[in-house]
Amino acid sequence: MEFRCLASSSAGNCYHITLNRKDLPPVVLLLEAGLPYAEILRRMSSEGLDLRPVDAVLITHNHKDHSAASGDLRRRGKRVYGNRLIVGDDQDTLLEAGRIKTVAAETRVYPFSVEHDAEDSLGFVIYTDMEMILFVNDCKYFAEDLSKQKFDYIFIESNYDGRVIHFAYEAAKDQKNNIDIDRYERLLNSHMSIAHTCDHLKKLDLSNCKGIFLMHLSGRHANPNLFKQRVSKEFGKPCFVCRKSGGIL
Ligand SMILES: [Zn+2]
Ligand SMILES: [Zn+2]
Repeated sequence: MEFRCLASSSAGNCYHITLNRKDLPPVVLLLEAGLPYAEILRRMSSEGLDLRPVDAVLITHNHKDHSAASGDLRRRGKRVYGNRLIVGDDQDTLLEAGRIKTVAAETRVYPFSVEHDAEDSLGFVIYTDMEMILFVNDCKYFAEDLSKQKFDYIFIESNYDGRVIHFAYEAAKDQKNNIDIDRYERLLNSHMSIAHTCDHLKKLDLSNCKGIFLMHLSGRHANPNLFKQRVSKEFGKPCFVCRKSGGIL
């Protein structure tokens, strides 16, 4: 597995990943395309990456910070997979919860439902004949039982620290700041706190896991260093934080 974060926040998400296969070269995937098309190309090239070898693009849901370039990528001949709002009725690329889809040779995706404020939001189990990853971005929680899977790597949202939001929300209510009240209520109802992230990780079999990557941290309500320390200490695994403008911590 090789991984590059090109963007990770409510301002945009895009991740470049390669997974090993037994008798084939690694499969190349773009997970999320939530930046303008030209910006994806620019960030890829500054990482020494190229769009041509990308075998498939997978998108979790139809919010712009995850899907902005999906149309441009499709028009340029990339295979973009996502729900009906992203790919329409194209059965070849339509992802539906519970239905395994082959997205490249020896590369399959098991999409499952996650709770989020966008229609048909999905999480992904992505696996080749050699490696398996879990990818869960925007999500308040997911009910899918994945305790039997042995993931090599886990990519999961960790948006905010519950205590930080609590005080900010109370302050917004005191000040009758309706914009902030709405923002915090939306966040609490559609995104994952670091405590929720840890609760989900506790339910998984981490015996094969070689790394946990935290995504989509809030700029105002998350401390990347603390989150990284907390997860690596609690689970005894290397933990990395995907940075807003690309790169990892
Ligand atoms: Zn998002
Ligand atoms: Zn979203």
